[in-house]
Parts: sequence; structure tokens; C-alpha cells
Amino acid sequence: MTTRIHLSAPDVGDAERASVDAALRSGWVAPLGPEVDAFEREVAERVGVGHGVALSSGTAALHLGLRGLRVAPGSLVVTSTFTFAATANAAVHAGATPYFVDCRPDTGNLCPDLLDEALTGLAAAGRVVSAVVPVDIYGRVADLERILDVAAAHGVPVLCDSAESLGAARGGRAAGSFGRASAVSFNGNKIMTTSGGGMLLTDDAEIAVEARRVASQARLPVAHYEHAEIGYNYRLSNILAALGRAQLGRLDSMIARRHRVRDRYRALLNGRDGVRILHDDGLDAADNAWLTSVVFDDPAVVASVGAALAADDIETRRLWKPLHLQPVFRSNGRHVTGAGEELFRHGLTLPSGSALGDDDLDCVCGRLESALDEAGVRG
Ligand SMILES: *Cc1c(COP(=O)(O)O)cnc(C)c1O
Repeated sequence: MTTRIHLSAPDVGDAERASVDAALRSGWVAPLGPEVDAFEREVAERVGVGHGVALSSGTAALHLGLRGLRVAPGSLVVTSTFTFAATANAAVHAGATPYFVDCRPDTGNLCPDLLDEALTGLAAAGRVVSAVVPVDIYGRVADLERILDVAAAHGVPVLCDSAESLGAARGGRAAGSFGRASAVSFNGNKIMTTSGGGMLLTDDAEIAVEARRVASQARLPVAHYEHAEIGYNYRLSNILAALGRAQLGRLDSMIARRHRVRDRYRALLNGRDGVRILHDDGLDAADNAWLTSVVFDDPAVVASVGAALAADDIETRRLWKPLHLQPVFRSNGRHVTGAGEELFRHGLTLPSGSALGDDDLDCVCGRLESALDEAGVRG
């Protein structure tokens, strides 16, 4: 019997079972409790920021982060087109309109030069931009020093979408510590998981306090139910925070495993023409190696390799389809070069999870090798 090999399956075991069981036995089943407080402290400490607010998803963290930046209804939120829809959805939840800027062709991350051009053009047209949201794609931190400089020059605050980059760093600084605030995700397929969850990270106490308040239906701290504003039901449960704490304790070893998976693909592709590993540029040691993607010169190879692996029940996935090409965002403004579309057409993500065992990895590599040979991707 064969079992499906997934792209990035949850990596949970005895440590997670023990942690969840202890939380259940403690009686703190719902909603909040000491595990949530400890999880917030531990993630904030790991990233090196003052405050963490544990939430039900990364999307909720983006939404409340934008709210904390005072994103005004009717304004624009400028973000990368090469990302998951959640980044832009959160801007819509906050009452704003996403405006899409293209990525750098080498990294897939928001291009600082294009961002500068876009903000200059929008200002000249009299448009109000209330936030810039760069995304650390596939675990590679964006060019945040330059992006922060460009945004500051235009007087626009930055919220980082670090949903994919927990544990990564840039210039010695941890992902999640840049900008006014950052959002991380603990969705089931991310580098670590609470089955579903997220966290807003910030040094700004006011943003954290406000996010915490509105995440619990904006209930005021009095004996009866008193509400002075509209709130959300966005908090993470105590049980899931217990799962998150066990995962956080294993984060470094899970990242190391993902790097070893990437090393295997690197060795396999070494010397073959017409293919490269995205982010394999000598700088990827600071990535968390969340997903390993390959980019083929010939877009036809994406389909043939994907189909060959699917026939053996091995999951692969196309890279993000740029948001400016998505039907739901077809009328949104954009400043694009085609770089994101190029990655979408030429890229394929390979099984990358830390739960991927050596036998499964051997199986993926064997099948991939023959698929590449058949497609003519040789040395
Ligand atoms: C996963 C992800 C999100 C959303 O996180 P959820 O926890 O699934 O809501 C947002 N942005 C990016 C770039 C992501 O990959």
C-alpha cells in the first residue's frame, strides 16, 4: 500500500500530544488561559519583540495589524502581487483596497524599486496609501531594510506578512521583528502549526492592547457585557496554544530538517541545465526553507514533472498565481512587470515538510530524477 506524500504535512508527535494532554487535564479548555499567555511570551521572545497577540489565524493577525496601523476605509494597501490571497483579503476586511506591486524575479519578494515607483505615482495621482504589506515569500525574508526606507520616505507604515517566515532572519534580525507589526501563521501546512492560528507581533504596546481587545468582541472589562465598538471573535484557544508551545520547542530542529530536504533536491539538480532552486543563491542559510520550489526554463516541464509525481501520489504545487491575475482582484490597481507571472508559469513546489521521512524523500527523489530525464532536463 502506498500513502500520499504531502507538500508540507503537520509535524506533530509525542511532545505535542503531551502538551495538549496537560492543557486538557489542567481544566483550561476554553477559551483563553495560561498556555495562551505563555505562548505569546515565548513567540515574542523568540522573535525579539515586546508583544505577541495569539489569534485564530494569520489572516486575523493581518486584519488586526492593519487596523492597528489605522488603515482608513477607502484607502489603498500596497502589497506584493506574488502572494497568497489572504494577504489582500485582510486589506479588504480592514475596509481598504489592495494595490498590487510586482516582485523581484530572483526571490519572488516585493521589489523595493517598483514599490518606490508605485508610491510616487499614487501620491502624484492624489491616492491615499495607508499601509505597505511586504510578504516573506516561502520563508525568505523580503528586502525589508530597503522596503522600510522607501515606505518611510513616503510616510506610509509597514505591516509585514511573515506568515511563511517564522524562524527565518535577515541581516541577523528575526522575521517578524521588522516594521510597525508583523503577522505570522500557524496554519496546518506552515513551518509550525497550532492546527490553525496566528499571531500579531509588535513592539507597539497600543497596537497589541487594541488587537487583544477587539479580538474578544471588543468586550470592555466590566462585570456585565459592555461594548463601545465593533469586535471580532479572533482569539486562539488555550488547547491550541499548548500545541503551539510544543511546536515552538521543536522549531529549530524542524527548520534544520527542511534544509536537509532542500539539500537533497540541490544535490539531485546539481549539474542539470534549465532548472534552478528558488532562493538557492548562497543567502538561503537564513531562510526557514518552508517550501522548496524549483523554477524551470521551459514552462512545459512544470506540467510534465507535476503529472509524473502525481501519478505516484506525490503532491506538488504551482507557485502563487499573482493576485492581479485573480478574477476577484481583476479591477484592482497594479504596478507590474510580469515577474510574478513568470514565477507562476515556470515554478513548481516540491514536498518540503519536516515530517517527510528519509524513505519518502528517497521515493520523491527517485521519481523526480526519472521525470527530469524524461523531460530532457539533464546535465
Ligand atoms: C498562510 C498565509 C497567510 C494566512 O495565514 P492563515 O493562518 O492561513 O490565515 C497569509 N499570508 C501568507 C503569505 C500565507 O502564506
